[in-house]
Amino acid sequence: MRVMVTGGAGFIGSALVRHLVTNPVQGREHCVLNIDKLTYAGNPASLHSVSGRGNYRFMQADICDRAAMERAFAQFRPDRVMHLAAESHVDRSITGASDFMATNVMGTFTLLDVARDYWQRLPAPERDRFRFLHVSTDEVYGSLGPQGLFAETTPYDPSSPYSASKAASDHLVKAWHRTYGLPVVVSNCSNNYGPYHFPEKLIPLTIINALEGRRLPVYGRGENVRDWLYVEDHVRALDCIAAHGRPGETYNVGGRNERRNIDVVRRICLILDAMAPAASPRESLIEFVADRPGHDARYAIDATKLESGLGWRAQETFETGIARTVRWYIDNEWWWRPLRNRYEGERLGLLQEAA
Ligand code: NAD
Repeated sequence: MRVMVTGGAGFIGSALVRHLVTNPVQGREHCVLNIDKLTYAGNPASLHSVSGRGNYRFMQADICDRAAMERAFAQFRPDRVMHLAAESHVDRSITGASDFMATNVMGTFTLLDVARDYWQRLPAPERDRFRFLHVSTDEVYGSLGPQGLFAETTPYDPSSPYSASKAASDHLVKAWHRTYGLPVVVSNCSNNYGPYHFPEKLIPLTIINALEGRRLPVYGRGENVRDWLYVEDHVRALDCIAAHGRPGETYNVGGRNERRNIDVVRRICLILDAMAPAASPRESLIEFVADRPGHDARYAIDATKLESGLGWRAQETFETGIARTVRWYIDNEWWWRPLRNRYEGERLGLLQEAA
């Protein structure tokens, strides 16, 4: 299986690449091409464990660059494309949306159009096997009230420039299926957390700030609810959906782990106090800051279609996954310290929240 991954130097993409490169299917290795522009969010250090492997290749390129994408398809000849490259941080999309439109909308269009051209020329057996998995977010559905869950049939209602750009890309992908027959599958996942997560997002920012005794900024009163999924559970879901999902279908991915932001931050403080005791409890570092404009109140996923249709189940509970994550940040300062130094400053303290 020859798998082209876009955005494979990012948080979820690097977990996916590590998974594919080291997990053969029926005794046969995946051959993986990772295409990544290496924006601020792309980090080759996240791939240190696989970078020397014979079944892994890297190409630094922008998915908006049509000629580069045509070259990549022609030379690598993928059986499967797993498209994760994106601008992913909501706060950045609010202060400057143009990169989000370029990569998430035009980049997805470019990749789709090159993939269609490539797929139409494939001989029959390879043509039937080809899949294009588009990795998206539950944020396209907008905000829930206190009750209810997002299903695959929930109407799109995005709130932020980020989620609007992802919604646009989802529509493009589905149109390329209906109009041209391209065998696409779409996944919409809830908030991820885990190792190698860029330290501007809520969970890694909280862990690192708490380790350093800095303030722990929380938007509003911390009442917003997110449905957290451990990144390795997401990666197994993506592999499963790409292999067994029906072309043209959407699958929601989530672990039934709804938590208020304030409870997530408090939990991290308690775990850290136990694993790396400090002079005073870390909860005293929590500081409420002005809320994000257009901040969605609650996200929660109904993953029944994926669970009963394709047999996927989340393996980590929030309690086990968050403890593993905190331990990882304690043990892997070599990874986050250079990022921390590069993005030091007030802005880093204020940017928070998962994508
Ligand atoms: P990330 O920001 O950590 O990584 C994005 C990667 O894409 C980076 O390596 C970056 O260099 C690369 N990239 C950006 N623009 C590019 C371009 N023009 N060409 C090539 N590469 C480019 O993001 P993530 O959190 O790993 O998210 C990956 C995907 O999963 C995104 O599509 C995101 O919308 C989706 N998603 C994320 C979450 C989450 O909680 N993080 C949840 C659901 C879905």
